[in-house]
Amino acid sequence: MTNKYGQTWDLDAIFPGGSDSSALAEFAQKADQALTDWKQALEAFQVPDQAEDTAGLVRIVEKWETSAKHVFEVVAFVECLVAQDVTDKKAKQWSGKKDELMAAYSGTLTGVDQVITQVPQQTWEQLLEQPELINYAFVLDERKKEAAEKLSPEQEILLNDLAIDGYHGWGGMYDTIVGSIQVPLEIDGAEKSYSVGQAANKMDAPDRQVRQHVFARMQEAWTEKEDFFAETINHLAGFRLQTYKHRKWDSVLKEPLAYNRMSQDTLDAMWGAISDEKDSFVKYLQRKAKILGLEKLSWYDIDAPLSSATKHVSYDEAADFIVKNFRTYSSQMADFSQQAFEKRWIEAEDRNSKRPGGFCTSFPEKKESRIFMTFSGTASNVSTLAHELGHAYHSYAMNDVEQLNQQYAMNVAETASTLAELIVSDAAVREAATKDEKIALIEEKIQRSIAFFMNIHARFLFETRFYEERKNGLVSAARLRELMVDAQKEAYNDQLDEYDPTFWASKLHFYATDVPFYNFPYTFGYLFSTGIYAKAAENPEDFERSYNALLEDTGRMTVEDLAMKHLQEDLTDKSFWLKAIEVCKQDIEEFLRLTAE
Ligand SMILES: [Zn+2]
Repeated sequence: MTNKYGQTWDLDAIFPGGSDSSALAEFAQKADQALTDWKQALEAFQVPDQAEDTAGLVRIVEKWETSAKHVFEVVAFVECLVAQDVTDKKAKQWSGKKDELMAAYSGTLTGVDQVITQVPQQTWEQLLEQPELINYAFVLDERKKEAAEKLSPEQEILLNDLAIDGYHGWGGMYDTIVGSIQVPLEIDGAEKSYSVGQAANKMDAPDRQVRQHVFARMQEAWTEKEDFFAETINHLAGFRLQTYKHRKWDSVLKEPLAYNRMSQDTLDAMWGAISDEKDSFVKYLQRKAKILGLEKLSWYDIDAPLSSATKHVSYDEAADFIVKNFRTYSSQMADFSQQAFEKRWIEAEDRNSKRPGGFCTSFPEKKESRIFMTFSGTASNVSTLAHELGHAYHSYAMNDVEQLNQQYAMNVAETASTLAELIVSDAAVREAATKDEKIALIEEKIQRSIAFFMNIHARFLFETRFYEERKNGLVSAARLRELMVDAQKEAYNDQLDEYDPTFWASKLHFYATDVPFYNFPYTFGYLFSTGIYAKAAENPEDFERSYNALLEDTGRMTVEDLAMKHLQEDLTDKSFWLKAIEVCKQDIEEFLRLTAE
């Protein structure tokens, strides 16, 4: 039987010739040139005497946009080359060029800050009202405000240089320590050493004794190195806190909230609503404990599989299933996905030499996207495929938006993907052939709610409290363990028998230096898209139009404005979040019904 859709992607449509592509080399030169032009525009800039004199700023914006498009086009292509064949040496060389372009791009952005901080506030406000600049007002003003709250440009440049060794270096140190850990496991009678990644994969074994064994050995392994981890997290946090102190920022949440374009009130309303509704999710934990014959679940039981009854599907079946179900919400989403399959925008083939994991990347010049994943026919592969198509659709919805207004933050980045995944996983539950299969599919959905409402809540509580204590001095490994277990108890409503005191050491996100507080944006994104999903059910006729309009605006306003404009919802009020949680509660009710004796 021949396949309907090809499972390897077409990269030649972007630049023909793979890592040997001369078109890519030519285009990379154009990117270099664009960056040079942008720098020249910055050097030539003079603070205007009157607001009508927009030429200097307009030129900077133009060159900035061209640079962004060119640089991101090359970056996206190189990511695809590296992912499709990890043994491609030429692709690795391109990877070096990619890093160089990105460094030059962000370096020049600091130059933009330097220029715009010189413009007096009154002139600035008038400048942004001019017709040729008004479309960029939000993004430009955001940059100027943020720059004003930082130290002087010279000091910020020094800070960035010192951060390479004094801050990011600690993030690298974390990877080195983790890489040195070996976990000895006794599985099927044979003792063997595993990396932490390999060992963690064995934590969802159906046999509880295996899980307990792996958990105990992992605890030993993390604890053995805990002093190294404590030192690392303390210095990393110390650097961040010193930086904030000099900038006169009193809240550690200031930076991540600004980055996500959201307010503290929104964050409080979201966690408040989740805390109010924890009882419903506790019912799931209790039922699962009962099914497993336990008084209470332990940390290592949460992800234990209850059934492995999901069926395998072919790639063609998955594609048609996704397109069919997208169509019940939006014909544009369905048509878009159909052509992504037909034009081979997706690399899905199950073969060696591919990088693991999945991603979606977009090409701003070509206005196309490419999806990378490995499809082996599981239910979670189908979800991933829908998820990545959601990302691609988000880019497509923004095709006519200016490049600088396309750059959305992490918390809204997952809106379209989560929504696409919800549509498809709900359809899979509805069409499940057996009760066991239905239970397995619903549980997969519930697991996501548990992760976002409990696990990530624990991370947030821990991190906030740790940073507060760190302000007064170094925090010992023993205290870090205590803070972690307290946070987990609170986040899981005291429902677990055993917690994971080493989680502060084992979770990479606490050591990530590119974005601080790499936790609450996940929960925001999940609930924000669930809220949109709930609205779609209320008003299906208007869904496509209002959804596209919302996606278009994701890069040019705060999340509060976005929700008010397109959903008529106030994110600082609990009611929006409660409505979204209600959708997740329906899965719990269905699960309780299906698993009642
Ligand atoms: Zn995603």
